[in-house]
Amino acid sequence: SSSAAQYRREKKEEEINEKFEPRPIELRSDDIVDGVVGLIGNTPLVRIPSLSNALGVEVLGKAEFLNPGGSVKDRVALRMIQDAEQAGYLHPYTGSRIFEGTVGSTGISIATIAKAKGYSATIIMPDDVAREKVQALKCLGAEVEQVRPASIVDKKQYVNLARQRAVHFGEPSTSTEHPRPHIKTATSTVVVTTTASEDVMDGLDTVLEEQELREKPRGFFADQFENMSNFHAHLEGTGPEIWRQTNGRVDAFVSGAGTGGTIAGTGQFLKAMNDDILVVLADPEGSGLYNKIKFGVMYDRKEREGSKRRHQVDTVVEGIGNNRMTNNIDMAISSIDDAYRITDEEAVAMSRYLVQHDGLFLGSSSACNLVTCVKLVKKMGWKDGERVVTILCDSGSRHYSKFWNDDYLRAAEIPIDPSLIDDLLSSP
Ligand code: PMP
Repeated sequence: SSSAAQYRREKKEEEINEKFEPRPIELRSDDIVDGVVGLIGNTPLVRIPSLSNALGVEVLGKAEFLNPGGSVKDRVALRMIQDAEQAGYLHPYTGSRIFEGTVGSTGISIATIAKAKGYSATIIMPDDVAREKVQALKCLGAEVEQVRPASIVDKKQYVNLARQRAVHFGEPSTSTEHPRPHIKTATSTVVVTTTASEDVMDGLDTVLEEQELREKPRGFFADQFENMSNFHAHLEGTGPEIWRQTNGRVDAFVSGAGTGGTIAGTGQFLKAMNDDILVVLADPEGSGLYNKIKFGVMYDRKEREGSKRRHQVDTVVEGIGNNRMTNNIDMAISSIDDAYRITDEEAVAMSRYLVQHDGLFLGSSSACNLVTCVKLVKKMGWKDGERVVTILCDSGSRHYSKFWNDDYLRAAEIPIDPSLIDDLLSSP
């Protein structure tokens, strides 16, 4: 309804106007941390020697692949779960199962933290993602449901399936006639919590007695695309950490966007600290976000017909790109200064170049980010020690079966030619 939309808009404005107060940051040390959750965040910033030396500009990568779940998504999963606990949506004896629709990284992070906190996880994903992600999920004890690729031309379908699974979880039958109607209402309200209005949630407390909650296991739909806990994980974590680690000396921040949480939260934090910092989007082929930033619309009909990738994301480069607006991307749009569209070939070339020169074994979205860093530096004409910071989202070990599989790439007719990066670096 329009009043719900109005509510969400106001909520978003509140978030934007909120005063940023970075939490104190303790850098990784020899301290003893409590469990796997204690290992999340506070990642180092690594200077990338080959690119930095060739450009005369410091290219710094936030080493998110060092998180215990192997990616930047650990931060988001932890924050979503903590916020849900605090709001009472996840509770030790009522809400024991977490549902999410994801291409993998977020699922692995949720599955990891769920085990540490005594919850279960159901992860719904496309069935053509790198299979090591599915293996990781199964090893972590998550329930995995895979959806055929034909049905995921945009991300809505598997995400919606996760929502549905959460709504129906715990229902004793498929009957629409629930013996206690208020509980049914509560069950379906709870899982859409992140966009539910305050008054709905207040009402919930009054109809549900603790005893009833105890009898009624609920599903929690984490909803990373719409859930603002995602944005907050970066606004209060990634952004302040980068600021501290660089003493505020940053000229540009480069990031891809899947849900948009990273670029929105980190970008907005850095902009709030210093409006001169450029925030730049790295967008893979098949994604509409580049057009959205450059021209204000996601689709260009001519392009849609001509494009090989046909607006399909998560093909070779996984985890970034999107063809619809989400709450988290919405939060980013106003702070993105520029965008680059990166081809699969360029991302592949960068990943091989970095192994050869730096021994850095990175995933596909990290490679896209770094190609964008080089293009940005070239376009800006920077060569005097300026600083570009980006995110190294995950490691190559999540990508053996696709992005790091030469046979797969050959079959997909994607060239593997790291000299492309030499050319890019030596171009005027
Ligand atoms: N890289 C990888 C490997 C990811 O899994 C994701 C999340 N889908 C991203 C980058 C993008 O991050 P965000 O969702 O914050 O835009």
